[in-house]
Amino acid sequence: MAYQVYFQTLGCKVNSYETAAISKLLSEKGFVETEDYETCDVYVINTCAVTGEADRKSRQMIRRARRVAPNAIVVAMGCHTQMCRDSADADIVVGTDDRPSLVPLLMEKLHLKEEMQEDLDAGTRFFEYGSVPYQENTRAIVKIEDGCNNFCTYCIIPYSRGRVRSRKREAILSEISDMAKKGYREFVVTGIHLCSFEKELGRDSTALGELLLEISRIEGVKRIRLGSLEPSCMTPQLIAMLKENPAICPHFHLSLQSGSDTVLKRMNRKYDTDLFRRVVKDLKEAFPTASFTTDMICGFPGETDEEHSESCAFAREIGFTHIHVFPYSPREGTKACAMKEQIDGNVKSKRTAELRKISDQMEEERTSGFLGKKVEVLVEEVREDGTCEGYCREYLRVITKTEEPVKQGDILMARIDGAEGFALTGSAVSVV
Ligand code: SF4
Repeated sequence: MAYQVYFQTLGCKVNSYETAAISKLLSEKGFVETEDYETCDVYVINTCAVTGEADRKSRQMIRRARRVAPNAIVVAMGCHTQMCRDSADADIVVGTDDRPSLVPLLMEKLHLKEEMQEDLDAGTRFFEYGSVPYQENTRAIVKIEDGCNNFCTYCIIPYSRGRVRSRKREAILSEISDMAKKGYREFVVTGIHLCSFEKELGRDSTALGELLLEISRIEGVKRIRLGSLEPSCMTPQLIAMLKENPAICPHFHLSLQSGSDTVLKRMNRKYDTDLFRRVVKDLKEAFPTASFTTDMICGFPGETDEEHSESCAFAREIGFTHIHVFPYSPREGTKACAMKEQIDGNVKSKRTAELRKISDQMEEERTSGFLGKKVEVLVEEVREDGTCEGYCREYLRVITKTEEPVKQGDILMARIDGAEGFALTGSAVSVV
């Protein structure tokens, strides 16, 4: 396909002559001149500097080109750019003495653009693996989405994995149906940015709610567990849909990253602590026994002692069952990596240890809160001593004594009477 070039020439006859000369050079390379500036591939402005007004007009034309032809490569050449090379609105800037370099520079840019377009096209398709053979005993992980559009300042994923694209519903449902026939009972639905499922089709997070309802109707599916969720997608509508779905496990991994609003802003997260609080409150109303887990980063660039304290206090307020705490680690190519106020490694380690201690305390409190309560256990393993092990719906490991013979995949109700580390212990009261 021939590239379309639009020319705009300011100033004198010499400039007109030079525009014609460049046009000829480009036509020899297969370019075609066009009158349609809005759809052109290359927009060339041959500038003028004879007066201050000509300078002003040249700058204005370059800015306008960028605006009216946002997909074009904007080339600024001529007398104005000879004097003033820092034209940020143009992709290629040549003066009068280096005009011959215009054609090779342009070819290089177009080639790069083509390569980027190819990458982008590849990154807009969900790569379908088909059914993934390796899974845990009774729990299968199912990926429904890839990519992310959020551009958190510390994260490389939108660059490395590309933008959101969703797996086809038929493929998801057929994989789950096959796995359920093989005996899997619990399905962990995951994605890079789960709530963005079908976002590229213009859907909001209720698309995820619909999909989960379809999954729950598949024969053999007893539980659906959700992977990491972004708080801002947890709208009242989606929470209402989750509440109506009997297979949803009351365990939510809500990605917090920081409990300080100023740090969240620097991270370019799309929520603040107020919104997070609202989501937790709504989920607790819908699922009174809900467990919450999260990820948090310590020592993000510029994090002050006060911000770290705010973060710890907010984590305590929410009462997470577990926090995956990470010291901030710079990723080349991200905005946060270029931020000036990087935090000293010792400070990061100290803050990480402090938050991990808080996580352990909360985990213990949460575990002891189950004493005397009945929970539903999906049996993953039957041990030689007759006890069995599995997770309750709230995602705590439970070791259960049982009189009745049970096997992997059975579901039983157990009364909790103690704890072993972070696991609960109890006795089966019935097999469901
Ligand atoms: S942290 Fe998560 S939401 Fe943010 S850019 Fe990375 S993948 Fe997207």
